[in-house]
Amino acid sequence: MDVFEKIKLTAFNVPFEAAEDIRAPNPNLDCLPKLEELKARFPLTQAHLPNGRTIPLLKTMQSSACERNCNYCCFRAGRDTPRASLTPDELAAAVVKLTRAGIVKGLFLSSGLASGGIRTQDRLISTAEILRYKYDYKDYIHLKIMPGAEKDQVLRAMQLADRVSINLEAPNETNLSRLAPQKAFFAELLKPLEMIESIRQTESPHLAWNGRWPSSCTQFVVGAVGETDVDLLQTTVTLRQKFQISRAYYSNFSPVIHTPFENLPPSNPWRQHRLYQAFFLLRDYRFDFEELPFNPKGDLNPEVDPKLLWAEHHLLQAPIEINTSDYAQLIKIPGIGPQSAKKILEARTYGVIRDIHTLHKMGIATSRASKFILLNGRRPPFQPALF
Ligand code: SF4
Repeated sequence: MDVFEKIKLTAFNVPFEAAEDIRAPNPNLDCLPKLEELKARFPLTQAHLPNGRTIPLLKTMQSSACERNCNYCCFRAGRDTPRASLTPDELAAAVVKLTRAGIVKGLFLSSGLASGGIRTQDRLISTAEILRYKYDYKDYIHLKIMPGAEKDQVLRAMQLADRVSINLEAPNETNLSRLAPQKAFFAELLKPLEMIESIRQTESPHLAWNGRWPSSCTQFVVGAVGETDVDLLQTTVTLRQKFQISRAYYSNFSPVIHTPFENLPPSNPWRQHRLYQAFFLLRDYRFDFEELPFNPKGDLNPEVDPKLLWAEHHLLQAPIEINTSDYAQLIKIPGIGPQSAKKILEARTYGVIRDIHTLHKMGIATSRASKFILLNGRRPPFQPALF
């Protein structure tokens, strides 16, 4: 099979992988072999990187053959599906070809497990080594850490990559045993996350290819086995505190035919959206976990923005004065984010803000903010939404 045919086979359906902020669907790889035509019509995955850049990313697998039987996964061992594997040389050469053609500017590399996590990890590392040292590849590489990888391998992957990740899949051991009965939550998944942070703390970043240790992240499958939003977000908070992960990704469960979960309903897409909103409230808006508006079952309301729900409960009767409140108070107002809170603080150095239009001109969503604020001691006029 041609190398690009193999990439095409592995790049589709990379299961539940949202390891960068993907802004477009996975690429249409039908046109891969015709390199001369690609630049004009290749609809690549656009990935939003941790540094704010957006790049076309090739998201693929070293091998879509897998010896494990995760209950939700299209690549599980017991499932009859076409598979492909690429050698490190093949894959690295293909990435370079696509890069030189101006088609991709980065690689996200995962793999099914063949002959155990350690041997699989070796193949991913070899691909990255060939890229960095044979081809002097300077673009973005996100490497997956395989379940059960050893510390030397984690270190080597971190020396080569811009980001590393290991998917926890579930927020705790009980939920993981239902999703992926052959995976060991602590020994195979949490341990490598701990190793990543330990290496960052103890080893010099000069060992890394670009002098910086890569960021790390994880991913959860949401909605297949009854985990609550409290479970997911509490584990996320713990991972951020203990292992300094920069992101958690929440991938909606969608049933795959010929898997044990084929008859389960797909999860509500709004649930994923609310989880991301809650994650950003915790990470960027200085919310405490206890402030998130969970219902008695431990879930967020999928119908309502959690920041708005929090404000309805806390700010309607106690609106925030725009002219005197500090940054931490301002960013809790719906419609005001970190950038607009800074603009307000700067504007206040020139005088008192009395008028809702002044906020509007700063780019603040005044229709969301107005019922939760005071302007120089007065509530601004509030236009209720028609619908
Ligand atoms: S380890 Fe599980 S999730 Fe990963 S490819 Fe294999 S079956 Fe799929």
